[in-house]
Amino acid sequence: MTSVTTERVVIVGAGLGALYAALTLAPYPVLMISPEILGEGASSAWAQGGVAAAMDDRDTPEDHARDTVLAGAGTVDAHVATAVCDEAREHILNLTTLGTPFDRTDDGGYVMSREAAHSFARVVRVRGDQAGAEIMKALIATVRETPSVQVLEGHLATGLEVVDGRVTGVWVSQSGDERAAPVLVQGAAHLLAGGGSGGLYKLTTNPPRIRGQVIGMAARAGAEIADAEFVQFHPTAIACGEDPAPLATEALRGEGAILINKQGKRFMERLHPDAELAPRDIVARGIYAQTQAGYEPALDTREAIGPEIMTQYPAVAEACLRSGIDPVTQPIPVAAAAHYHMGGIKVDDEGRASLDGLWCCGECASTGLHGANRLASNGLLEALVYARRAATSIMAGLGDAAPAPEVLVETQGSIAAPREDLVADLRQIMTDKVGVVRNGADLKDALARIYLIEFSQPNCDALKNMTATATLIAAAALTRKESRGAHFRSDFPQTNPTGERSVMTLADAMDIRARYAKE
Ligand SMILES: Cc1cc2nc3c(=O)[nH]c(=O)nc-3n(C[C@H](O)[C@H](O)[C@H](O)COP(=O)(O)OP(=O)(O)OC[C@H]3O[C@@H](n4cnc5c(N)ncnc54)[C@H](O)[C@@H]3O)c2cc1C
Repeated sequence: MTSVTTERVVIVGAGLGALYAALTLAPYPVLMISPEILGEGASSAWAQGGVAAAMDDRDTPEDHARDTVLAGAGTVDAHVATAVCDEAREHILNLTTLGTPFDRTDDGGYVMSREAAHSFARVVRVRGDQAGAEIMKALIATVRETPSVQVLEGHLATGLEVVDGRVTGVWVSQSGDERAAPVLVQGAAHLLAGGGSGGLYKLTTNPPRIRGQVIGMAARAGAEIADAEFVQFHPTAIACGEDPAPLATEALRGEGAILINKQGKRFMERLHPDAELAPRDIVARGIYAQTQAGYEPALDTREAIGPEIMTQYPAVAEACLRSGIDPVTQPIPVAAAAHYHMGGIKVDDEGRASLDGLWCCGECASTGLHGANRLASNGLLEALVYARRAATSIMAGLGDAAPAPEVLVETQGSIAAPREDLVADLRQIMTDKVGVVRNGADLKDALARIYLIEFSQPNCDALKNMTATATLIAAAALTRKESRGAHFRSDFPQTNPTGERSVMTLADAMDIRARYAKE
């Protein structure tokens, strides 16, 4: 079998965006492609802080939108920020109805955390750092009980079929090391919800599956990619040698934890008036500079949080203990790690990509909400808002919902998975040359090396998806000759008076790469 046609809407991915879209589409039949067992391998389940929403009576969506625009450093689309922040409250209420056990106050309100660059404590949470895991648990249980959703576990998408500029199918293969030749699945509509690109970097907080594959496959099909250069580095990944690096949530700094170096000195106070609660990019560069100078930065929660870290932040405490760090008595070693991709597949207000028949939501999409620097905890919010919008837009083009038979994907033959040594090289290059502090020479070198990696295994679509996204990030970073938000160029440290979003196709990025590629 090489192709199968179905009346189901095909959703690529199984994180928050995918699950929420599938539930919105119900009873329209859906086929969800999940590389792992549903719930595993998605960033969504690892989210610690929570979801940003103006739930407190003293807070407003307008203030939330204003903070979002300010954090984004001049390239947030203000109308997108206003609309998304306006919708936030109803999604929190919906998640609550679906069974998410958000922390509540005695009078029935929501317990709110304060995170960097928010003017108000505005992040709903679950048991300190369990928000993502609990939201996913609630949605997965609901999806499992929803007969219209077929979940195809152990499979991934490797490419899109495009006919006359319209996306007509998704190539699907098995996700293990031994991969069968892909089968073309042609659905009623196609929604990409495959997450971001953090795992393209060696030092990252993202799960191993999240390596820009889905952005890359859309780019290879010809879709426009926006803001590719804007990659957010989380300042406080726990530097314990694990890959991926566990996260010490920003809420810890919101509660008063401080950053110190090996001499026990605070260093953020002289870099920004908000010190540890400065915008993420500024804290990330502060940490990076300390690491580069050998000062071994650390997060000190001892005085502000003390023994309560064990019960209030169980995921952080467990990661520390795994590495022999006692967070009650010792500072937690930290490093800046690739965390969130503001850029992605350019979509309109309905989640439509530039190719007909293709919708995208979640971190793989670039909506204009985040600009050059995502405001903390706006990632899950954006996934919720655009999952529902994309699903609604897809439904508008379908007839009445009717049950559809289950899709049987019978793969045959075999193809190679990406070579591990090539993926490791790619990730090292991204961290070393396209990381927290960039410059033209390194970016050109990165493009040349990405080219060599791509052509070391030319028939591997999964690798090409990764190198496509890496090429777009490096080419867009080279093209942006200024520093803005998370994109910092040591050779262009100034910020231009006006900021614009970048839009590029893979063909544009390949043209730039060709100038530096060495055979
Ligand atoms: C450690 C950590 C903490 C975070 N904390 C927060 C927070 O507190 N608040 C917040 O707002 N945001 C947070 N974020 C960001 C947020 O979690 C993500 O932006 C959000 O979960 C993205 O949701 P998604 O559905 O787009 O992608 P994901 O949840 O990453 O799901 C992507 C899905 O696509 C699948 N996939 C990947 N490639 C393929 C392929 N080729 N074919 C098929 N499927 C594929 C994956 O297996 C996965 O199921 C955090 C991120 C991390 C890593």
